Amino acid sequence: MAHHSAHRGPQTSASQKRPHAPQPPRLKRSGEPLTSQPTAVRSKTASAGNTRSCNTLEFPAPLRDVNAYEKKRQVGKGTYGIVYLGADKITGDSVALKRINTEQEENGFPITAIREVKILKALNHPNVVILKEIVTSKDSGKVPKNVFMVFEYLEYDLTGILETREIRLSQDHIKSWTYQLLSGVHYMHKNKILHRDLKSSNLLVNRKGELKIADWGLARSWNKDMKHLTKTVVTLWYRPPELLLGNAQYTPKIDMWSVGCIIAEMFRRTGFLKGKNEAEQLELIFQTAGHPTPDGWPDIDSTCPEWKNCKQKPDELLPRKIAEKLKAPPVANPGWMSDNAIELIDKLLILNPTDRMDAYTALDVDYFFEDPMLKKAAKLNMKFSVPSMHEWEARQEQEKRMEARRAQEASMRNGGGNRPRPPPR
Ligand code: ADP
Repeated sequence: MAHHSAHRGPQTSASQKRPHAPQPPRLKRSGEPLTSQPTAVRSKTASAGNTRSCNTLEFPAPLRDVNAYEKKRQVGKGTYGIVYLGADKITGDSVALKRINTEQEENGFPITAIREVKILKALNHPNVVILKEIVTSKDSGKVPKNVFMVFEYLEYDLTGILETREIRLSQDHIKSWTYQLLSGVHYMHKNKILHRDLKSSNLLVNRKGELKIADWGLARSWNKDMKHLTKTVVTLWYRPPELLLGNAQYTPKIDMWSVGCIIAEMFRRTGFLKGKNEAEQLELIFQTAGHPTPDGWPDIDSTCPEWKNCKQKPDELLPRKIAEKLKAPPVANPGWMSDNAIELIDKLLILNPTDRMDAYTALDVDYFFEDPMLKKAAKLNMKFSVPSMHEWEARQEQEKRMEARRAQEASMRNGGGNRPRPPPR
């Protein structure tokens, strides 16, 4: 790979009928100890986390009251609470208010929220969501009842976009968002941070076409000597084989597998490897990416304790079929799946994490240098017929449609003479 920086420009930053998509199983969040802040990241002096500097000293400022914002409507549901669209009462700027539920937590404030704030304060990149500040409600005792993280607001998340058939996508969107995702991931890996929950609902998109990585609640700083990392990370559909096989000494390559799944999902408008449980997920991976072989993954026995339970006889080894599966239905537009696009996804879905492509290399692959050429976010057509859509809202819409269909079927069964009304779209 010779010609990196020359091509890497600044990146400020089909509708199809789809079945009701099941939710990938959600993760339980665990409380690993916090490690010190990564040294390569320079801390911002923004208001996030509310510190005021006084020469060399930094001391916490009182948190502002949530009254500073008008709560408008729910847009998301996170592990720890609801996410609302809000507006700054003075400037009118839209924000996302993520409620941190401190009540369900035995030890007061959730460790994942502390970790998320700490990491977000340290990160500063066009493809990472901006945490503006933390606010709290007045009724606070020792541990405030209501604490909100205030983020810049982005009108869509990628699941909301992909699941809304009225939103027409082009190759330009897929290519630009793939590049923006890789840029954000490269930045965090360079700073020795693992995200550990990359998936389409954690990728936000605004009306300027910018994609930003959100939900840093499972992220952590990392170095290669860490031997006992939590294995129950990454939402099942996006979880790499080494984690499913019990490797607790994983690397940033776990996020790269998730990136491969997300790129494939953009072409298909639905998840690529949708297992219902861990065993099924592993089976799906093997059916798609083939079985691991001693040549392809020489240290699998020593690094993956669960591998001994699923070893295959040499004559039962499944072959690799990534290209074939990527071109198969429900790919939205098979013509878009160029050989270079397939090659990129193929290299990200390599079973052996050592050989899996990293973000820096992925930013330089031929897919970004073939027609249609990579567009900057600002050049994307973002005049979608739906002005905003997040996963939670898309699910509500689907529920409404299903409800209407059930009611219609029931009335037909009851011999309802009235002509049935079509369900709302
Ligand atoms: P949790 O960490 O509790 O799972 P997330 O941060 O993933 O919560 O947020 C849940 C959902 O809320 C996201 O999938 C997204 O749809 C929505 N959301 C989160 N942050 C924003 C934001 N800054 N702007 C708009 N929507 C957001």
